[in-house]
Parts: sequence; C-alpha cells; structure tokens
Amino acid sequence: MEKNFSLLGLNTFGFDVKAKFFEKVQSLDDVRNLIGNQDFKDNLNKSRVLVLSGGSNILFSSGFYDGFVVYPDFKGIETLDETAEQVKIRCYGGEVWKDFVDYTVSKNLYGLENLADIPGKVGAAPVQNIGAYGAEVKDTICQVHTIDLFSGKVRVFSKEECEFSYRNSIFKKSGVGSLIYAVDFILKKHAELKLDYGNIRNYLASNGITHPTLQDVAKTVKTIRAEKLPEVGVVGSVGSFFQNAIVSIEKYQEIKQLYPEVPSYPVESSTASTAMIKIPSGWLIDRAGWKGYRENHVGVWDKQALVLVHYGGGKPQEILDLMHKIQASVKTKFGIEIHPEVNIV
Ligand SMILES: Cc1cc2nc3c(=O)[nH]c(=O)nc-3n(C[C@H](O)[C@H](O)[C@H](O)COP(=O)(O)OP(=O)(O)OC[C@H]3O[C@@H](n4cnc5c(N)ncnc54)[C@H](O)[C@@H]3O)c2cc1C
Repeated sequence: MEKNFSLLGLNTFGFDVKAKFFEKVQSLDDVRNLIGNQDFKDNLNKSRVLVLSGGSNILFSSGFYDGFVVYPDFKGIETLDETAEQVKIRCYGGEVWKDFVDYTVSKNLYGLENLADIPGKVGAAPVQNIGAYGAEVKDTICQVHTIDLFSGKVRVFSKEECEFSYRNSIFKKSGVGSLIYAVDFILKKHAELKLDYGNIRNYLASNGITHPTLQDVAKTVKTIRAEKLPEVGVVGSVGSFFQNAIVSIEKYQEIKQLYPEVPSYPVESSTASTAMIKIPSGWLIDRAGWKGYRENHVGVWDKQALVLVHYGGGKPQEILDLMHKIQASVKTKFGIEIHPEVNIV
C-alpha cells in the first residue's frame, strides 16, 4: 500500500493529484486481503474509496484525494465457448480496452470495431456503457464479474442485471461497492457492420471502399477519432465531458424552429408516449460560442466542443469553473441543462 501517492500518470486530464492511500490489486485474493486492512475499511465506510482504472473518465475536484484508491490490474483473455456463429470471450478488467478491441478485430470477430481506440481499461467499459459511432458496449456484453468490496463475495451480473442505458449502468448508479474484475462478451463471426453513424460511410466512400471489411471499419473509426479528439498524454481531457442532451419532442421542435440544422437522433428506448430526442451537446456548446475558447490552463477543444481540455500546469478547479460557465450559457441560450459525463470525485 502506498501513501500520498501521485496520480499524475493515472488521470488523462493530467492533473497532479495525490491520493491518501493507493493499492494495486491483481487477483481476488489481493482484494480480500485489502478488505482486511483497517485504513481501507475506514475509508470504505465513509464512501471514500475509488476504483481507478485508466483515469480517462475521472475529474478529481482538488489536488488531494482524501481516501483510498484501488487500482485493479487483473490480466488475461480467454475464449470460453465457440459456435459456427459466435465466440464467447472473457477479458479481465485490467486489460487495455483498445488493445482488446484490436485483438478481436485481428481474430475477425464483429461487435467492438466501432468502439476502437476508446481510452481506458476493460473493467471500466460496462460502468458507463461506453459508446461511439452508433455502438454501445452493452450490445456485446453477456456477463460482468464483480467482487463486493465490503464482503469479498463474488457476484456475476447478467446483462439484464447490469441495467444498461445511455452512458449508464447499475455500476455507475450504485457508486462505491463493487469492483469489476472480468467481463464476458459475445462476438459474431459474420459481418454485421454499423456504418450509419457519424462520418463512417462517407469516409469509406471517399477512400474508394465500397465493401468495407471489419478491419476497414476499425481503421476508419480510429482515423476519424484521431482527427477530432485530443491525443491522450499530449493534451489533457476525458473525451466527451458532457453527456448528450435528451429532450422532449416539444423542446426539440422549439429548437428546430430557430435552428433548422440542429442535429438529432431518436432515443433507443423511447415509446410513442414518452418519445425523446438526443441532441449532441457538442452542437449546443458550439452554438453557444465556446468552441476553441481558452482561459489560462484550460479550454474547449477547437475540433470538438464537447471536449474540455487541460493544457498543463492547471488545477481541477479551473475545469470545474469552465464547466459551470458552459452549463449556464447553454441553459440561457437553449433552455437545456447539460450534465457531465465524467465522474467528478
Ligand atoms: C480522448 C478520450 C476519448 C474518449 N472517448 C470515449 C468514447 O468515444 N466513448 C465513451 O463512452 N467514452 C469515451 N471516453 C471516456 C473513457 O475513455 C471511458 O469512459 C472509459 O471506459 C473509462 O475507462 P477508464 O479505465 O479510464 O476508467 P476510469 O476513468 O478509471 O473510471 C471511470 C469510472 O469507472 C469506475 N471504474 C473503473 N474501473 C472499474 C472497475 N474495474 N470496477 C468498478 N468500477 C470501475 C471508476 O470508479 C469511475 O467511476 C474517452 C476518454 C478520452 C480521454
């Protein structure tokens, strides 16, 4: 166990935050030993335990985390079952997500290609049901393996028990309590490509690719992402800082009257009586005039207004101040409240 441990290399915002306690766990036995530790117990009882993986979706609210950081580093990939149609794969939580996606693509397994190059670890992927380019990780997950940090008991969540929704799951909703140490995926052996979101189809066409392979799609997603997003380790960010706005049909129509070009997507679970529409928050922030804005060490990425950036040498409070200013300005201009996607701790 480390004390006063620097998390500078463990959060992609790149803030120099120290944790009061820090411990890496690589096995279920490691976790059970940790549960016996008095400092750990004290902090857990005060809800001051943070499971930290790649730190690519966390904003520390100050330079000191007054609690216990647990860093899961379970490793391994196993094929559990295989039929003519599909493969069931277990990936342990400490594996790097983008390497796992590359592995599945290299094995010609379909399902994760649109999620290529998302930073972070496999164990965090179910937490906010990561998504990109029309795909969500929930569509491939069949089980999530967890260990309870209070009791040390293992619990396997079925997909239904995970309560996945847009950038959410039971793990995000319930907060501190369980550590995900492995995730089981079902991936297809036959082509089921999703090309209709964002620029994928246009990009393929402009490169003369009319019959894309799985590898073409993964490569295209990576190229488009690299053009739009700050490079991890070069400019501090957590990718999309805010969730996209989910609004009523009436609100959407009100905005469309004023801005006919407003982009929108139907929300998957909408029923006719509660139909909701997703409006990209990046568009709202851009139209409110924030794209490319910079104030001292922080700002709004000039290629994607949904991304707040830290240029180095700043403090978490500067990002929080900017967040509040943007929220207030979007609310004033459109009457819409936008909420952070990032976990603020
Ligand atoms: C440049 C950039 C682009 C991004 N693009 C996308 C994108 O396209 N789509 C998207 O969905 N996200 C995106 N993100 C956000 C981020 O990459 C994902 O949310 C990712 O899954 C976070 O993984 P992590 O390992 O870094 O998790 P962390 O940031 O370490 O943790 C995130 C949350 O999960 C919890 N957690 C972490 N590991 C575990 C575990 N093993 N068990 C239980 N709880 C755990 C943490 O306590 C925290 O609440 C992007 C981030 C960056 C920096």
